[in-house]
Amino acid sequence: MTSKFVHILGVPFVNTNQKDFINTLQNHIARQERTFVVTANPEIVMHSLEDSQYKQTLAKAQYITADGIGIVKAAAIVGEPLPERVSGYDLMLDLLESAHNNHSSIFFLGAAEEVLQQTVAKAKREYPGIKIAGSHNGFFDWHDHLLPQKIKNAAPDIVFVALGFPRQEQWIGAHIEEFDKGIFIGIGGSFDVFSGTVKRAPEMWQKMNLEWFYRLVKQPSRWKRMLVLPKFAATVIGRKALRK
Ligand code: UDP
Repeated sequence: MTSKFVHILGVPFVNTNQKDFINTLQNHIARQERTFVVTANPEIVMHSLEDSQYKQTLAKAQYITADGIGIVKAAAIVGEPLPERVSGYDLMLDLLESAHNNHSSIFFLGAAEEVLQQTVAKAKREYPGIKIAGSHNGFFDWHDHLLPQKIKNAAPDIVFVALGFPRQEQWIGAHIEEFDKGIFIGIGGSFDVFSGTVKRAPEMWQKMNLEWFYRLVKQPSRWKRMLVLPKFAATVIGRKALRK
């Protein structure tokens, strides 16, 4: 029997594929259950090793999905394969589709004001069945309690939190208990991609698992952040060797 979770450097990843996971989330929406979802890449895993508070925040999540091929490869290395990556951006698209079909409500939180407005406008246009519960850009005062109150009052079925890592998990972790229901999911720079501000890698590159490389070429300023990838691989392989 395959286990429900696969642990990579102490982070429990849900052992699922995109389609099944969307069904799982739809069930939570139907039952009006409050659900915290983290879409974790190697950067997030490495950060959890260095920051115990962040690790505690991750422990509040009901689900942590494999956001990126690095996690899927690491799962294979530790001998507990994950079927595929379940990325934040793909979850956003599938949740929009499912919300369109079921007339669910969505709150959009994050990114610069212009990107946010373009995201909401495109979502309305392409998924007319969705209800917009509200939106707020990602540059707000963290001590302002009006924003979580606004979301609580709107009681959305889904809240896309696009504040980038680690802010989005910290924000959800700090407020999740204040809400009665809703899928709260951290989706990084997805609004930038959805609005067309940042281009996603062409499908060919995605299929070849080279999306990370495309991002590096397009946004060279990210190279420093990417240094974590070889470190992540070395840590996974090193820990495995120690266990033998
Ligand atoms: N962002 C935000 N508030 C902040 C800082 C960043 O809303 O205080 C947004 C930013 O505009 C961008 C996203 O968060 O839309 C971060 O994207 P990035 O690609 O850096 O995140 P990652 O996917 O790597 O977590």
